[in-house]
Amino acid sequence: MTNPVNHCVLCNSTDIHTIDNISVDRLNKVYLKEYDIDITDDIKTDMTLEHCKDCDLRFFNPLFTGSQSFYEQLQKFDWYYKSEKFEYTHVNQFQEVRAAESLLEIGCGKGVFSDYLTANYTGLEFSETAVAEAAALGRRVYNKSIEEYSNNTSSSYDVVCSFQVLEHTENPRSFIQGCIDCLKPNGTLIITTPAEDSWIGYKQDFSLNMPPHHVTRWTDKCYTDLGKLFPVELLSLEHTPLEPFHIPWYINSWLVHAMNERLGIKHSVVSSKRHRVQHIISDTITWMLKANLPVVYRGLGDTVIAKYRKL
Ligand SMILES: [Zn+2]
Repeated sequence: MTNPVNHCVLCNSTDIHTIDNISVDRLNKVYLKEYDIDITDDIKTDMTLEHCKDCDLRFFNPLFTGSQSFYEQLQKFDWYYKSEKFEYTHVNQFQEVRAAESLLEIGCGKGVFSDYLTANYTGLEFSETAVAEAAALGRRVYNKSIEEYSNNTSSSYDVVCSFQVLEHTENPRSFIQGCIDCLKPNGTLIITTPAEDSWIGYKQDFSLNMPPHHVTRWTDKCYTDLGKLFPVELLSLEHTPLEPFHIPWYINSWLVHAMNERLGIKHSVVSSKRHRVQHIISDTITWMLKANLPVVYRGLGDTVIAKYRKL
């Protein structure tokens, strides 16, 4: 979606307000430095980060999503499609998943989650490379959007799940509705996204949490209130534990945020020169603290897992 919108892309409310301005030049510098990826083909103008006062969604405006070329460049990093995710083992312990006869996963990559399941598995995926790899492994994965798939496949699945995909889509409303349409009555919907109510909500220059990668940000309130917009009942809402390798980012983000609060400096998702001085200070403190960190720190991890029943 390359034109700005004047309403919330989840609940359609017009009670939205700008909480940040993002320069495409500055964001491109971050992507080039971290991943050697030029995003100026995908993002043509500066953006704002909007907050919906009704449903609490944050979204970038306009919603510039990533092209096939952008994702192909990211897939060159072997960590991009991990074969193991905390969500896979965790969600597979849900009683609803263990009892399911049929399961649909949206944005499934190569369909790795099917290896964890006894249910009859179907996946949807945009990456043609990933679909071909899934087919070679004998996994049923289609190159379709959930909106297209749900047109011909209503009320068919016991479980519909999507791990770290919703935040990439420019139309979360039709995405969630499509997921619900594919569920049998009383079926289970499982959605995970990065948790805006965690350290990543404060992390600056976190390119992969910005366009053209992520275009929306989800707080716990977005999930607890989802039943007001769709025919679903929330069964559980959890945060993953803080990963040990994320602890330095956690401390760093928290320190910069605390300094901003004390000094009255406005937080922004992309850092300014003033923020970069703070980062030097917080990097130094983090470096010193790392010497004495407990091996495993439990706290709010970077992923939220929401489970619903279709009404
Ligand atoms: Zn809204």
